[in-house]
Amino acid sequence: MTTRVLTNIGELTTNDPSLGDESDLGRLYDAAMVIDDTHVLWIGQNGDAPAADERLDVDGAAVVPGFVDSHTHLVFGGERSQEFEARMAGTAYDGGGIRDTVAATRGSSSNELRAATSRRARALQASGVTTMEIKSGYELTTGGELRLLEIANEFSDEVTFMGAHVVPDEFLHDRDGYVELVVGDMLAHCAPHARWADVFCDEGAFNVDEARTILLAASDAGLELRLHANQLGESGGVELGLELGVASVDHCTHVSDEDLEALASSSTVATLLPGAEFCTRSPYPSARRFLDADVTIALATDCNPGTSYVTSMPFVIALAVREMGLSVDEALWAATRGGAAALRRDDVGHLGIGARADVVIIDGPRAAHLAYRPGGVMVSQTIRASR
Ligand SMILES: [Zn+2]
Repeated sequence: MTTRVLTNIGELTTNDPSLGDESDLGRLYDAAMVIDDTHVLWIGQNGDAPAADERLDVDGAAVVPGFVDSHTHLVFGGERSQEFEARMAGTAYDGGGIRDTVAATRGSSSNELRAATSRRARALQASGVTTMEIKSGYELTTGGELRLLEIANEFSDEVTFMGAHVVPDEFLHDRDGYVELVVGDMLAHCAPHARWADVFCDEGAFNVDEARTILLAASDAGLELRLHANQLGESGGVELGLELGVASVDHCTHVSDEDLEALASSSTVATLLPGAEFCTRSPYPSARRFLDADVTIALATDCNPGTSYVTSMPFVIALAVREMGLSVDEALWAATRGGAAALRRDDVGHLGIGARADVVIIDGPRAAHLAYRPGGVMVSQTIRASR
C-alpha cells in the first residue's frame, strides 16, 4: 500500500461536518490530506502534514470529493442528434425516442456497446465522477437486458435493472404481457446481475399501478428500488416511491407541496437532473423549493442519448446554480454527498477519515470555479481509489 500526501490545498471540501469549519461542507483552507490506495488516512493543516511515500503539491488548487453520479443510462447503441435538432426546432418530447435507441442497441454487437460505454465512462471520470450508477433498459428482452447488465457491471458496482423503461414495439398492444415478462422471466435472469431496479413511471411510459407491480416483484427478487418519477407531469410517481420506500425518486420536475412535505419526512432522496431540462428545453424545477422544504437532494447527469447526453458533472452543477436556485456549495454537496445518499452509500461523496480515496483536484483555487466557469475543463486531476 502506497501512501500519498496532497499538500498546498487552497480550499479542501470534505463534506464531513466534524472537520474544518464544521459546516456541512467541512471545509479547510491551506490544507493537506494523506490517502493510500483506497482510503483517506489524514486531513489537516498544510503545516502539520505528515510524511508519506509520495508527495503531490497541488499549488493552491481546490480539492473536493469525487462526484457521485447516481443516475446514468450509459450502455446504449446509436445516437439521436436528429431528434435533438427537431426538438430544438419545436417538436415536443414524449418519450418515444427511447424506441429508436432500443432498435440501435439491439443491432449493436457487445463489443460495440462495450467500447461506446467505455468512452462515456472515461468522459464522466475526466469530469470528476468517481462513482457512477448505470441502468439497463435499451433492449427490453430477457437476453438483451441481461447483456446490458453484464456490460454495465464491467464499469460499476451500482448497476440497475430497468426492463421497464418503455413498452417495446412488439408489446404495444399487450402492455400487460410486457409487464408479465418483466416481472417473470426477465427479472429472474437479470436480478442476480443488478443491485437496483428502476421503472420509468410517467405519461407515455408505465403508470403507477404497473410500476408498483414491477417494483414489488423486484424487491421480492432481492433488488433495492429507485424510480423515475414526475418528469413529464404530476404522475403520482413520487407518492409511489414513498409508499415503497425507494432510495431515490429521480427527475421530480413536477412536484406538489404535499410531495415535498412527504419527501422531507422520509429517507428518500430527490435526484434532480437539470441536463434533461436543458436538453429538452423544459422548465427547470426549483431546487431551492426542495431545500426550503428540507428534502435531501442529489444532482446527476442522467447521461442518455435522447434527453440528456451530458458527460460532465461540473456542467450539471453550473446548471443547478444558474437555473435552479442553488448556491455553489449546495450544488457541490448534492453532486457528491447527495448522490451517495441516493445510492445509500456512506463510503463515498465525502473525504472524512476512512472514506474512499476518491479525490478531485479543481483547476482553480475555489470549488466555486465549477459553476463560475461553465463549459471549461474544471478538473485537473481525478484520483479514484482502486477497487
Ligand atoms: Zn433516466
